Amino acid sequence: MRKQKKPARRGPNRALALVVTLALMGASFALGWHFGVDSTRFKGDILLVNAEHTLAPDYVPEGLVNLYEQRHSFRLARSDIYLTRETYEAAERMFAAAEADGMNGFYITSGYRSYDRQKEVYAESEPGKAQEPGASEHQTGMAFDVTAESSSGNFETTPQYGWLCAHAHEYGFIQRYPANKSDETGISYEPWHYRYVGVEAATRIHATGMTLEAFLRKNG
Ligand SMILES: [Zn+2]
Repeated sequence: MRKQKKPARRGPNRALALVVTLALMGASFALGWHFGVDSTRFKGDILLVNAEHTLAPDYVPEGLVNLYEQRHSFRLARSDIYLTRETYEAAERMFAAAEADGMNGFYITSGYRSYDRQKEVYAESEPGKAQEPGASEHQTGMAFDVTAESSSGNFETTPQYGWLCAHAHEYGFIQRYPANKSDETGISYEPWHYRYVGVEAATRIHATGMTLEAFLRKNG
């Protein structure tokens, strides 16, 4: 019997390598980082904004809604506070659930801030008390500041704050600037500042006690 020559494997291997490469490219596109706005990184739908990842002056989130014009189970400090629709809807679900738990008196004091508005806030603030324009999460429309009507400046001592600590992640929110994490976030403790990242990420961040910076670094 004639000895069969081993078939050349180069062709099929190359085809296989191409298929694997294309599959990996597709997967990394689906899972990976997108460079959308200046140096700001998008991973999936999580937008990271801090002093190192800033938003462009003309960055305005899509779908901002005026909270005053929506159904709201919370009080508003002003009639011109805006959030993205998704963030507003999650916040409304959260505060309605708090109300159902007998926890009232939440007071939203700030939402979306334009680059120019942040410029004014920065100019009016003491050094180190406000983010430079472009570096504020408020420009994303996915962050708000909240207090309790009875807090007299110490929101972290109120039962409303305790409720948020226990439940905010169930609605997709994280306390963005926890105590003793300023080496990671660049911002000292802000018990009043909440950021929408979606339920899955918020739940993982809550369970691990990670900052958003650490979470995105680990899952990036
Ligand atoms: Zn804030």
